[in-house]
Amino acid sequence: GYGVKKIEDVEGEDKAQTRVSYNIVFVTAEAAPYSKTGGLGDVCGSLPVALAARGHRVMVVSPRYFNGTAADENFTLAKDLGCCMKICCFGGEQEIAFFHEYREGVDWVFVDHPSYHRPGNPYGDINGAFGDNQFRYTLLCYAACEAPLVLPLGGFTYGEKCIFLVNDWHAGLVPVLLASKYRPHGVYKDARSILVIHNLSHQGVEPAATYKNLGLPSEWYGALEWVFPTWARTHALDTGEAVNVLKGAIVTADRLLTVSKGYSWEITTVEGGYGLHEILSSRKSVLNGITNGIDITEWNPSSDEHIASHYSIDDLSGKVQCKIALQKELGLPIRPDCPLIGFIGRLDYQKGIDLIRLAAPEILADDIQFVMLGSGDPQFESWMRDTEATYKDKYRGWVGFNVPISHRITAGCDILLMPSRFEPCGLNQLYAMRYGTIPVVHATGGLRDTVENFNPFAREGSGEGTGWSFLPLSEESMLTALRFAIRTYREHKSSWEGLMRRGMEKDYTWENAAIQYEQVFEWASIDPP
Ligand code: ADP
Repeated sequence: GYGVKKIEDVEGEDKAQTRVSYNIVFVTAEAAPYSKTGGLGDVCGSLPVALAARGHRVMVVSPRYFNGTAADENFTLAKDLGCCMKICCFGGEQEIAFFHEYREGVDWVFVDHPSYHRPGNPYGDINGAFGDNQFRYTLLCYAACEAPLVLPLGGFTYGEKCIFLVNDWHAGLVPVLLASKYRPHGVYKDARSILVIHNLSHQGVEPAATYKNLGLPSEWYGALEWVFPTWARTHALDTGEAVNVLKGAIVTADRLLTVSKGYSWEITTVEGGYGLHEILSSRKSVLNGITNGIDITEWNPSSDEHIASHYSIDDLSGKVQCKIALQKELGLPIRPDCPLIGFIGRLDYQKGIDLIRLAAPEILADDIQFVMLGSGDPQFESWMRDTEATYKDKYRGWVGFNVPISHRITAGCDILLMPSRFEPCGLNQLYAMRYGTIPVVHATGGLRDTVENFNPFAREGSGEGTGWSFLPLSEESMLTALRFAIRTYREHKSSWEGLMRRGMEKDYTWENAAIQYEQVFEWASIDPP
């Protein structure tokens, strides 16, 4: 095994236990607070800290991005390790360097290369995705495979016995490299790789001709080989031959995980599998799901620095103050009793934003208030502005990415609407429940797993459930659920309070998730790679 080591008694556990301590290497395109565009950044910023707190040695390898904004300052504390490396790929030798910061018990390792220094977010700029992302993330994967072997962090390397947590397609070449380049030479025989799928819709697909750039042995082409369906080909002569990095990871990783159990099932279906359902089904025996945790320090209604008034399950009175403050801030009529509905998220087809647009006249015909925060697709941004102009005393559409406002909406609203088409985990419904805001969600992926449908008759009439989870994804069923929620809010105050309390009591801590990850490490260690 993995060097059975006694981990010091963890606070809250009564008995001293002998648990295995793992050397864990996260490979990721994003890690908050250094870089973040969504849930991936949240997970890779928090889970490593939670695992380190439980006694594991944890390293996170991600790019050292510089985009010329204030975000660059996140990297100031990371020091150059003076360890340069040459990587043979893309027809030449690419030189990268490693930077390092030890923070909250975790070794944050940043791979430096000029291709990570450009304006925009990690993946693209106003002109769309960068054309060389395959190159940029190939470098990340090579560097991540070397890091445990060569970096003397805190005096000694991690060594070969480690668990690689490979996140999404950007890190997908790691298990392929382990299988094709390291293990045949006897290196990393005792290492394990776990692919964590945060979003299956991005797979790292490029023309087949790019395979030679990756520096992989030619006989491994089959692992990445991918044929586009006929309808997706651009012209008649196109054979559809491509390489798919995520597919390569799916077939070579020792274990597969998604960020909720529901999503791990959905990706094995035609509807949710984005062309990979058959390959994923064939690996069902190593596929599982673990629901993400949330940062309960950042998201805590009894200490949140962004909200007008603090509250907790023992004293809910501050919540209405948050609502009033939000109405004031948004310039909506101050009406503490009027149902206030919120939406937060990327303005993307995934989030079901088109359905909200379709249903908006119906929603806004009722005596309610509705606030939306989001950025993304320009057509939805302008729709939000237009809707605000039409429904001045009912609707606010805040275009942009703004964390303090997202906290104030989460605290101030009564209902959070999430009609996501698919949702690998979803964080906003978890934040909402913690803030006593009732989620109304499409029953998909992590939303279905985490939002329990309200049943007023259960438990001798005292009710159960934490929100509304509707099916199918249609305007009609969304409106039905929303109207049910609005009526409960207006007419059944005690049922509403029950919903709030049950949601606020839920435990979605990272520690809880970390314990489940440990079980997967153990499971992965049983079988040889
Ligand atoms: P995804 O990763 O698909 O975007 P998640 O729900 O997993 O969805 O995570 C999104 C994260 O980004 C959440 O923390 C959410 O609050 C945050 N977020 C999304 N849009 C905005 C916005 N416009 N302003 C502030 N935070 C946002």
